[in-house]
Amino acid sequence: MTKKTIGYVHMLWTCPRCATRNPGPQKFCNGCGGPQPQDVAFEQAPEEKLVTDVAEIARAKAGPDIHCPFCNARNPGIAKFCGACGGGLAGGKARDSGKVAGAFRSGPAAPIVCTRCGSSNPGASLKCSNCGASLAPAPAEAQPASPAPGARPAGRSPIMILGIIAAAVCGLAAIGFLMFANRKTEQIGQVASVGWERRVAIEALRPVEHKDWRDQVPAEAELGSCRQEQRSTSQEPIFNSVEVCGTPYTLDTGSGYGEVVQDCVYEVYDDRCTYTLPEWTVVDTAVASGTGNLPAWPAMSLASDERAGEQTQTYSVVFVTANDSYGYAPANEAEYAGYVPGSQWLLVINGLGAITSIEPAR
Ligand SMILES: [Zn+2]
Ligand SMILES: [Zn+2]
Ligand SMILES: [Zn+2]
Repeated sequence: MTKKTIGYVHMLWTCPRCATRNPGPQKFCNGCGGPQPQDVAFEQAPEEKLVTDVAEIARAKAGPDIHCPFCNARNPGIAKFCGACGGGLAGGKARDSGKVAGAFRSGPAAPIVCTRCGSSNPGASLKCSNCGASLAPAPAEAQPASPAPGARPAGRSPIMILGIIAAAVCGLAAIGFLMFANRKTEQIGQVASVGWERRVAIEALRPVEHKDWRDQVPAEAELGSCRQEQRSTSQEPIFNSVEVCGTPYTLDTGSGYGEVVQDCVYEVYDDRCTYTLPEWTVVDTAVASGTGNLPAWPAMSLASDERAGEQTQTYSVVFVTANDSYGYAPANEAEYAGYVPGSQWLLVINGLGAITSIEPAR
């Protein structure tokens, strides 16, 4: 981010002795004549107009003012001796500077109603045009309502109690389910039927679309359409860049003037393009299946631009017992080959009806 100066504006300060609001550049109070104390901060003016006077701009740029170590009066940052008492300013303390006061208030401020006489005054006024009282702008937003005193103390609401009961019921149900699932029985099963299926993917080179910056597109690719998109940011104006700036805001310079600045950056644009490259893509699948104990791969007739891809195989066996039947999926061809229809096996079956182990029946 680059900070750009838009210009300078007057800030304000409020006299702690007489409540008069004074223009920032003014070092002594308009109401009582007292100096601005070091601990009285500058405030943002309700309406900010950019200063055009060359001498004022020079004062705004001169850096924070210095408070006299002898009489506390504010003096310009470049002064060597105090304008009020003549004392040397070498040991004086510079005012704080660089703090963000708020978003630049370029528009007109809402009128201020005098709390003493009720007259309406333009938003930029510091004192009432009717009675001369100091005007403080009304707070911009109301504070969010705080909880009423004596509100119900945090405790267990009926909904929370219901939640606790529900959780307990769920817990018991889960324990019961696990116990049920772990209940095992041994049964003799006979192989009623077997089945197998084998699949081979058929692949061919097909154009597949991708997207990238133009200089990243592979040389052998076929270029599609391109459009300009933001690729990066830059602090400097470079080829094909657009400056983008944030909302202007006011910084306290410590001199009674605010510096209105804006954070800017250059968005750099580039061509982002679609392109295609030939890639092996699944275009078909050859499938073979059967009900014997000798599975086979499907017969393939590949075209000249095709190749065989991924191979998968699945096996299934159905056992019948005295009172039920159970499906089972052997892990591989060797295991599958053993389940000859009619053969007998000792099955361990869990509470969910799944076969957990199989041994030859003696
Ligand atoms: Zn005063
Ligand atoms: Zn002094
Ligand atoms: Zn008034």
